[in-house]
Amino acid sequence: MVKDTKFYDTLGVSPTASESELKKAYRKAALKYHPDKNPTPEAAEKFKEISHAYEVLSDDQKREVYDSYGEEGLSGQGGPGGMNAEDIFSQFFGGGFGGQAQRPTRGKDIKHSIGCTLEDLYKGKTTKLALNKTVLCKDCDGRGGAEGKVKECPDCHGTGMKFVTRQMGPMIQRFQTVCDKCQGTGDLCDPKDRCTSCKGKKTTTERKILQVHVDPGMKDGQRIVFSGEGDQEPGITPGDVIFVIDERPNAEFQRKGNDLYKEYEIDLLTALAGGEIAFKHISGDWIKIHVVPGEVIAPGELKIIEGQGMPIYRHGGKGNLILKFSVKFPPNHFADEDKLKELATILPPRQEIKIPEGAEVDEEHMSKYDPARHQQRRTAYDDDDEDGQGAGPGVQCASQ
Ligand SMILES: [Zn+2]
Ligand SMILES: [Zn+2]
Repeated sequence: MVKDTKFYDTLGVSPTASESELKKAYRKAALKYHPDKNPTPEAAEKFKEISHAYEVLSDDQKREVYDSYGEEGLSGQGGPGGMNAEDIFSQFFGGGFGGQAQRPTRGKDIKHSIGCTLEDLYKGKTTKLALNKTVLCKDCDGRGGAEGKVKECPDCHGTGMKFVTRQMGPMIQRFQTVCDKCQGTGDLCDPKDRCTSCKGKKTTTERKILQVHVDPGMKDGQRIVFSGEGDQEPGITPGDVIFVIDERPNAEFQRKGNDLYKEYEIDLLTALAGGEIAFKHISGDWIKIHVVPGEVIAPGELKIIEGQGMPIYRHGGKGNLILKFSVKFPPNHFADEDKLKELATILPPRQEIKIPEGAEVDEEHMSKYDPARHQQRRTAYDDDDEDGQGAGPGVQCASQ
């Protein structure tokens, strides 16, 4: 007596089934419910169930535990389903269908990248794209000839491929080759019954226009899938056509997730005494901001404008806009000495210099640095000094 017959029922065998009966039952059920053969959610669930049942019952140890304690007895034994259904399937079938030459059951996915500017991804866009795709011939419904006149090729059993054994010297080689009886088509048809539209090829080429909707807030790498729109071939499920968003960089804005970043150069007067700044947003609108007098915006300071980032995909909200400031200083000698004295009455006092008492002091003066004239010739020792600013031994000595 076994505690629970659920796994046996799933495979449709009795609890006394032998190893070979289990194998036979699994083989039959797995082929019937494999997602490639039967792409429905119910079949996928069933496929998982039979795979799990077989995984347990085909293992003597696990079967014994299951027979005595039921499914509960198995928990804690290597976690829930050590292997997934697909692994069990391919292990059982050795990757092929019982040694017969194999034909893919699902067509290839076709990928296209779709270039999008940040504006496109902000507002969304619809693009029409024309594809040349292979479709089943409409005149013969993909048979290649008149109804009932196309027969499966007996040599290759309709696969179009067969194994050939060839002796090469002392060695015997076995390899897969295109069936010569049917030229790889997998079936035979009298020339007079052949479809005239596709000339027996079963497929024709069609130009198809796809409307691709890029939704606001989509991101680089995101996929838009046209399920089953890939090339059609007889006996296979067509693959998908997949468009992958390729986000183009923007000169003014950088995107990080749903947030936008922008660098803004503010003039010194506005940074100190307030005023207005303005710039064009990705949306096409202009944004104007009042800078409060005395607020003081320092170089490198970050400010946030909430809700002015990218739209959040299928959400309705928006990220934030972050401004990073640099400050444009006035040009050299922009004012005379008297005017500059007035600054001293407004700005915080000068920072006091601190030289240790008794230190030797060299009075120097400085002039404008000109890289063309002043840059030190590089030596083997400072090759890694990428920006080339100084680091000549002479410069270092002078500044210490
Ligand atoms: Zn045809
Ligand atoms: Zn053939």
